[in-house]
Amino acid sequence: MILEDLLKVYPEYRHPYFTHRRFKHAEILPLIKECGFPVQQVASSYEGRKIHKITAGTGSRPILLWSQMHGNEATATMAIFDILNYLRKDNSGFAQQLLEVFTLHFVPMINPDGAQRFTRRTAQQIDMNRDALALACPESVLLKKLVKEIKPEFSFNLHDQNVRYAAGLTPNQAAISFLATAYNEAREWNETRTKAMQVISHLNEGLQKVIPNRVGRFSDEFEPRAFGDNIQKWGSSLILVESGGNGEDTEKMKLRELNFAILLSALASISSNSYQHYQLQDYERIPTNEKCLFDLLIRNCTLDGTLMDIGVNIDEVNNDDATDYTLTSTIEDMGDLSTFWGIKEFEANGAEIETLSGFSEKLTKYKLQESDFGRLEFEKKANFALVKNQKPLAFVINGQLIEA
Ligand SMILES: [Zn+2]
Repeated sequence: MILEDLLKVYPEYRHPYFTHRRFKHAEILPLIKECGFPVQQVASSYEGRKIHKITAGTGSRPILLWSQMHGNEATATMAIFDILNYLRKDNSGFAQQLLEVFTLHFVPMINPDGAQRFTRRTAQQIDMNRDALALACPESVLLKKLVKEIKPEFSFNLHDQNVRYAAGLTPNQAAISFLATAYNEAREWNETRTKAMQVISHLNEGLQKVIPNRVGRFSDEFEPRAFGDNIQKWGSSLILVESGGNGEDTEKMKLRELNFAILLSALASISSNSYQHYQLQDYERIPTNEKCLFDLLIRNCTLDGTLMDIGVNIDEVNNDDATDYTLTSTIEDMGDLSTFWGIKEFEANGAEIETLSGFSEKLTKYKLQESDFGRLEFEKKANFALVKNQKPLAFVINGQLIEA
């Protein structure tokens, strides 16, 4: 089953519950109960939320998949429920075959306390992915225990990454990035790590047909405290999948769909062992993840007589119960930014940067506050006008470009 075919059938299996990323543990409990496969409570989080493992299939090859180790990285959790739907309902014979070859162990939302706050860290304010040695978090204890007990042939460590990563030094947002984590400082290739690299190469080949030039490869610097690196060391071929940025797909519904196809396509190639012909150069051909993007890049504007570029980033700020968010912008860099790109770009052709104060009547619908009318300043909010020959070309309001 190839990736493109999986994307074609996806709409039939998409779990209808999920419409945004900020769902909570209490919301997935009924979905776990109704998933149609055996469910086991395997631990409680620090704050007592029950963490479940869903077991699908009876095959001799164990696979472990978990999501949302970082509480605000929810894309793969949605995809896991789509995949469970598929495994239960597909009648082409493919799902049946997977269930006969594998025993699939799914742990959706392994950090439910973090998900509750929609933050990276656990309730103990610890990054679980730096806790594989210290095991200060019950969630970390669980993950290590599962790996040691299940002895998965492959492990899938499912994350979301910063949306501003590019695939190589290019303007292309990395929609999906991968890593076959290193198991030692020297970053050697043993059989375990090589298998992960080969499956990733297979996935990259499939993805290039769907999202050309938008697949990245994470840095493989050895991190002795991370789970990925340790699980590789413990002998399970570990594949890190990072869902990144995908233009306007802020709730990551398209990326969720890609996760569905990636994971099932990986299982297909593992089940047939067809991934084994890939070579290290196939993997190394995947461009590295690079930090060369701003959310908005204004090229060639003039501030107080100085020609410069301005890079603006826009970040999400959770509301009080982390069910929704507002956006806040920052002037991230100023000067020669010719080696960067913007996810959005504007060529100002020398236009002057002015405060918004001369345009307040035009901008009433944006409900600006007094502080939004101040001078542009490094590391402050991005509110300014771009003016040429006394005429506004564009406004930047909290980092959003509005052409005049
Ligand atoms: Zn993460």
